[in-house]
Amino acid sequence: MPGGASKLRDVRKLADARATLVLDIPVAELPGLPGELVCSGELHAQVQFGREQGFMVAQVALRGELELICQRCMRPMPLPIASSSPVLLVESEADAEAAPVEWETYLAAEGRLSLAALAAEELLLALPVVPLHADGGCHAIAAQAPAPGAPGPVPPVAVAGTSGDGAAGAGEQATTRPFADLRALLDGSARTKT
Ligand SMILES: [Zn+2]
Repeated sequence: MPGGASKLRDVRKLADARATLVLDIPVAELPGLPGELVCSGELHAQVQFGREQGFMVAQVALRGELELICQRCMRPMPLPIASSSPVLLVESEADAEAAPVEWETYLAAEGRLSLAALAAEELLLALPVVPLHADGGCHAIAAQAPAPGAPGPVPPVAVAGTSGDGAAGAGEQATTRPFADLRALLDGSARTKT
């Protein structure tokens, strides 16, 4: 059903019924996620509503395999998500202040919330602030698949001799090559120069 994840639901009814809602939400439909960090993926959310100590609570369990953008090499970086945490649902800022401090609170204005917004809020807590491949990860991926448009290995440029006097080999001979003769000695062969 389209819009199921973002549909506003009555929190009191859900809490009284101790309802459990299960949804698969494409990351693109989660509000408030940093688009430059999150590339793609789908989030499996299971939210169990209930009441505890007079408060409405939701146990939010998230599973999924997201794809983030590594902020060092700007290539995709898989991130498995597996989290489960209780959230206290409050209907106003005043209720939030009255809530026990050890609880994470979520504001369900007028007693309504969308599962997508709740899931997004929880997901944000599980995401790294700056996604980065593990040490060496960027390099390994770069070796597998060069980024499109990246400069390839530069072919060795032949050093041209001084132009004009026709002595093309002069520059090369002038260069000190300490191992050239050594190699010849080791080979035991007299290398004739042309
Ligand atoms: Zn990277």
